Amino acid sequence: MKTLKARKHLSAGSLLASVRKRLEKIKDPLLDKTNYPLTDCLMSALAMFGLKYRSLLQFEEHYLGNKQIRHNLKTLYGVEQVPSDTYMRERLDEVEPGQLRSAFKACLSAIQRGKQLPLFEFLDGHYLVSSDGTGFFHSNSIHCDNCCEKSHKDGSKSYYHQMMCAVIVHPSQSIVLPLMLEPILKQDGGTKNDCERNSSKRLLSTLRRMHPQLKMMIVEDALHSNGPHIETLESLDYTYIIGIKPEGNKALFDWVKGSACPSRTVHREGYTYELSWMNNVPLNDSHPDILVNFFECIETSPKGKKQRFTWVTNFVITEETIYELMRGARSRWKIENETFNTLKTQGYHFEHNFGHGYKNLSSIMGYLMMLAFLVDQIQQLCCPQFQAALKKCKRRIRLWEKMRNWFLTFFIDSWETFFLAIATPPELALGVGGIDSG
Ligand SMILES: [Zn+2]
Repeated sequence: MKTLKARKHLSAGSLLASVRKRLEKIKDPLLDKTNYPLTDCLMSALAMFGLKYRSLLQFEEHYLGNKQIRHNLKTLYGVEQVPSDTYMRERLDEVEPGQLRSAFKACLSAIQRGKQLPLFEFLDGHYLVSSDGTGFFHSNSIHCDNCCEKSHKDGSKSYYHQMMCAVIVHPSQSIVLPLMLEPILKQDGGTKNDCERNSSKRLLSTLRRMHPQLKMMIVEDALHSNGPHIETLESLDYTYIIGIKPEGNKALFDWVKGSACPSRTVHREGYTYELSWMNNVPLNDSHPDILVNFFECIETSPKGKKQRFTWVTNFVITEETIYELMRGARSRWKIENETFNTLKTQGYHFEHNFGHGYKNLSSIMGYLMMLAFLVDQIQQLCCPQFQAALKKCKRRIRLWEKMRNWFLTFFIDSWETFFLAIATPPELALGVGGIDSG
C-alpha cells in the first residue's frame, strides 16, 4: 500500500465545511414560511448520525439545555440554530433526496484534491464500483407516499424502503467510499429483481452524469448478467465485471466447455486459484450479438474446500490481467461486508427508524447516514488524529461512545483537538486541589 500523508482538506472540519457548502445550495421548499435555515436541519441530522445517536429524540434530549453541545455543533458542524426534533423531521420530509448527491461528490472531490484516490486505482486506472441494493426500513403499519408495499396472503400489507448503493472498493483496502445512492421506488416493480434492475439503471445513468470523466469498472452480482443491462453499461461507457451462472446462460457455458480455454494457476497464502478464461463469447441465445469475456476461478482453501466462481467482463482478459480481475470481481462483497454490515453492526443503527415522514424523510435519513459513514471512512483512511483515537479505543463502537460523552461534556473547538484528546486523554480531576503533582 502507498504511504499516506495527512491532508488538510481531508480533515473532518474541512470535509464537513465542503458538505455544508453543497447542502446550502439545496432548494428549500418551505423557504417562504420560515427563516430557519434548512442547512442547519440537515447538518444537525448529519451530526446525530456522526455521533451515532439512536434517535432524533435522544439527540434532542441531550442538546436541550446543554451549552457544550450547542457550542460543539457550531464549531464542529457549523450549526447556528439547533432545530427541535419534530421541526427537523417536518423540514427534511420536504427535501428531494437526489439533491443530497452533491455532498457525496464534494467528498470525492476532496479525496481527489488530497491525492488519495490513487490508493483505490485498479487495473488500467479504473476504479472498482460495487453496486447492490439493501433494505433500511420495514414496518407493518407505518408508511409514506414512497414506501414499497408487499401484500400478504392473509390480506395484510407491509411497507419497506430499500436503496441501491454504488461504492468504490479495492481488493487491498478495507475502506470503502460510497459514491451514490438511489432509492428504490414503488413504481420500480413488484419483485425484488425488478426493483433492483430498474433502480440500478437509474443509478448508473446518474452516476455517469455526475462523474463523466471517472474511469469506472462496475462490479455486480449475477442478477445483472443479462443483455439489456450489459447494453446499458456499454452505452454509458462503463467497464464491468458481472457474476454469471449456468442457469439461463447455457449456451455460453456450452461454448466455453467446448473450447480450449487459456488457463493459469496462482498460489497465494495457502490458497490455490485455478483460473481460466475465454474472450469474445456470445452472452446467450437471446443476445448472440453481445460478446463478453468469460472467466472462471476454482479456489481451493488450505483445508481443501473448493469453490467455483464465474464472471463476464468487457475488459480484455490476458495471462497478466486474469488474477487481478478475479480479485476485483471478488471485492464486490465489500459492499455487503464493509458497507452494509458495518452500518448494521458498528454503531450506525442502520435499520433503526429515525423518522418516516409522509414523503421523503426516510430516504433523507438514509442519505445522511451514508454521508456520515463516508466522512468516517475518509477519516479512517487519512486522518492521523482519527486513526490514533480509534487505536486508543480499539473498536469503532467504543470510539463513538467516547465521542458522544466528550461532545456532551467539553467545549471543543476543532476535530483535531477532539480526536487527539480521545487518543491521549488529559488528566482531569474534580474537586479542590486537583491532581497531586508531588
Ligand atoms: Zn415510506
